[in-house]
Amino acid sequence: MSERIVILGAGYAGMLAALRASRRARGRAEMVLVNADDHFVERIRLHQHAMGESLRRWSIASLLAGTGVRFEHARVQRIDPERRIVALEGGALPYDRLVLALGSRTEVERTPGVREHAFTLDANEVHTRGATALAKAISQLAVTAGGERPHVVVCGGGLCGVEVVTELVERFPTIRASLVTASGVGTGMSPKGARYVRAALARRGIDVLENIPVRSVHDRVLEMGNGSRVGFDVCVWTGGFVVPPLARDAGLSVNERGQVFVDACLRSVSHPRIYAAGDMAMQSDPPGAPLYMSCKAACPMGLRVGDNVAAAALGREERPFAFISSGLPISLGRADGVLDTRRNDGTLRNLPVTGRLGAWVKEAITGSVITLFQAERWFSGLGSARPVDSSRALPTRTPKQLSA
Ligand SMILES: Cc1cc2nc3c(=O)[nH]c(=O)nc-3n(C[C@H](O)[C@H](O)[C@H](O)COP(=O)(O)OP(=O)(O)OC[C@H]3O[C@@H](n4cnc5c(N)ncnc54)[C@H](O)[C@@H]3O)c2cc1C
Repeated sequence: MSERIVILGAGYAGMLAALRASRRARGRAEMVLVNADDHFVERIRLHQHAMGESLRRWSIASLLAGTGVRFEHARVQRIDPERRIVALEGGALPYDRLVLALGSRTEVERTPGVREHAFTLDANEVHTRGATALAKAISQLAVTAGGERPHVVVCGGGLCGVEVVTELVERFPTIRASLVTASGVGTGMSPKGARYVRAALARRGIDVLENIPVRSVHDRVLEMGNGSRVGFDVCVWTGGFVVPPLARDAGLSVNERGQVFVDACLRSVSHPRIYAAGDMAMQSDPPGAPLYMSCKAACPMGLRVGDNVAAAALGREERPFAFISSGLPISLGRADGVLDTRRNDGTLRNLPVTGRLGAWVKEAITGSVITLFQAERWFSGLGSARPVDSSRALPTRTPKQLSA
């Protein structure tokens, strides 16, 4: 009897793992893809969505149509590696091989008050104060009778913080924006790349408070580590990602963040019938450039996991995964961006691509993910999947309406 491969999570890694595994197995293994949402969420566009942009919606069923992969629209509750069962909301799902691709979400527990008083850039099924709720809150901000501009504070000076604050001031110039970060803006970037980001923030009139951690978040006020207070109308929290605790709870070998330690072929080092990819995976001995939680790493990992899990089910040889990163582009609104280029070993070149070209590269890379999905379908002899619609129009007010 053919093996059953169960893939948990239909984000970048899980979607590509399912499409690739079905292409490799061609009906010789049973495949099930489980996801809490029935649509694929383009997570790397959630800062655009949070600022009111309508995104195309891709139904998971339509992306899988014709591939033979069965879609289970359900939330995963527990994994039992001893009995090889996944507990879903609606019942138990047995597996022969399992792929963990449940991604990550914003960490909201470490700093008091974040969960209650801040918004995140998470998809709403993960966090009720996520990107859609943020879009509504921003659209409802109005200039007060005294002419005071509404103030949005973005906490976190990494990629997400920089992307959302620049998107915000571009779409809503009447809003005053601040970026607050425990480290420096551009930490981890090349000197030229970091300088470019700083200059871009300054040009847009964004106040930057660096090297001061947020101690706690309250109703309309941040308490800072140096004792000062920062008032706000809306607070956006982008202070890092955590992965779901399911792997840790199941007894898999994980790191302090809960990411699954995997070997070169992306199999759990403690439970080799279980694979992990994307934000959930941490290679114990990375052979290429260092892995970081990103779409850029999740996509090639998803493809390699798809290859390997199908190979294992068919009794074929599995192949190691090596990550090569040419750089991570950052958008600075829709017409500006920066790509810090890297060598194959992951080290920075101090040769960033900036400006309109940077924005173009960012958009090209962001859009290429759907092309990857389509390519897997084409190579399987299937036609293109089509988006169902753009997401429900959000009640976004234009800058003109805001100042009215
Ligand atoms: C605003 C923003 C911008 C970003 N920009 C970039 C960028 O420019 N470049 C880049 O490389 N990275 C970027 N990232 C990071 C990138 O989005 C993640 O690293 C990437 O999405 C990880 O892919 P994944 O497949 O591991 O997980 P995800 O894309 O998070 O997918 C996980 C899937 O699992 C599902 N799931 C989770 N828990 C359960 C459960 N219990 N039951 C069932 N289903 C579940 C989720 O619904 C989701 O569909 C950005 C992130 C954000 C938030």
